[in-house]
Amino acid sequence: MQFTDLGLRPELVRAVAAAGYATPTPIQERAIPVVLERRDLIACAQTGTGKTAAFLLPMLQNLAGGAAARHPRALVVTPTRELAAQVGEMAKQYARHLPVRSTVLYGGVGMAQQKRRLAAGLDLLVSTPGRLLDHLGRRQASLGSIETVVLDEADRMLDMGFLPDVRRILAALPAQRQSLFFSATLPDEIEGLIRRSTAAPVLIEATRRATPVSKIRQVVHPVAMTRKKELLCRLLADADMGQALVFTRTKARANQLVRHLERSRRRAVAIHANKSQAARTRALAHFRSGAVDTLVATDIAARGLDVDGISHVINFDLPHVAEDYVHRIGRTARAGRSGAAIALAAPEEEKQLAAIERLVGQPIPCEHVAGFAPAPAAAATGDRSRRVPRMRRRRRGSGRATTSAVG
Ligand code: AMP
Repeated sequence: MQFTDLGLRPELVRAVAAAGYATPTPIQERAIPVVLERRDLIACAQTGTGKTAAFLLPMLQNLAGGAAARHPRALVVTPTRELAAQVGEMAKQYARHLPVRSTVLYGGVGMAQQKRRLAAGLDLLVSTPGRLLDHLGRRQASLGSIETVVLDEADRMLDMGFLPDVRRILAALPAQRQSLFFSATLPDEIEGLIRRSTAAPVLIEATRRATPVSKIRQVVHPVAMTRKKELLCRLLADADMGQALVFTRTKARANQLVRHLERSRRRAVAIHANKSQAARTRALAHFRSGAVDTLVATDIAARGLDVDGISHVINFDLPHVAEDYVHRIGRTARAGRSGAAIALAAPEEEKQLAAIERLVGQPIPCEHVAGFAPAPAAAATGDRSRRVPRMRRRRRGSGRATTSAVG
């Protein structure tokens, strides 16, 4: 199957070829014709499946075929600023040969420039819920001409408490419209929302194209909690280390770690929810361009983050929720490249490690870095002696390894 077989215009096929996509992903094959026909759609799909192009390409085609209006004719609502920015960038990239104007709105930056862009007229609007409602409240945006609406990552909007905002946005749209729902899971609240918005949607379930865990080299380095920073610096100094994404449990630990890395002359930067939008955007741009080689993030900040070329994911702290480990490590080994996931495990994190190993269905190989094994004194005390050996145990060849990393 080729992009041309899906009924896309040559301008879009050219843009897709320039983006380096050879063939459509499964969700693109199935969703593009449905969206082109202006039917309603529910797609169960995560990041990494190619879901963004699956809705943007046909929407751009429908927009290019219609008459331009002063107010936007298509709307994409996303849970986070990062995702809005990414969708907006992709829309610009895919629409480069078409006369379709798009703009992105999100909070944390000034309203004035966004107001000007809205007033100038546009076809496609990408926005987070809160900022869109702000503009609507000030009558700086109108949704009266919307023909197609996309709720992207609807389940995350629910998790983040945006459902009331989303309902208000949907209520401001014309009743006659195309509704597209993209969600990794379909909790009851989302199903309810969908039922009220559409009568006969097409349902598509996409398997993700993210890196299977089995494709990522995983290793655990046991280390005392107090020596993690030192070990991290040692690992980052390794010649094989390209771009590293380092996860900490808290925002405070991310900041501390960046200060430590800077003192060790690493080009590191933190992204987490307390950073201003401008600082987060700048950090990501520097990481993408290679000006920064170590990005330190918390789980929430890293959600939806899509950066190719991460050679190493380092779990500076093990996550409390085992699933987060799979989310974290799926950010390496993208696009056929190789990738490694390193976990720094202190004796007191034994429980988290055991939960992760249960989830990925296999023990993670454990390697001691010379000079960093947790102090023997720890093993001598009755309590800790039970913990350290647990991490040394090797049980190869048993268990499944079918879990996929979500990216
Ligand atoms: P998404 O699931 O929309 O977050 O997309 C994940 C990644 O896949 C993005 O980096 C896209 O640029 C890339 N992508 C989307 N469609 C294709 C395709 N047909 N072939 C190769 N890469 C793609």
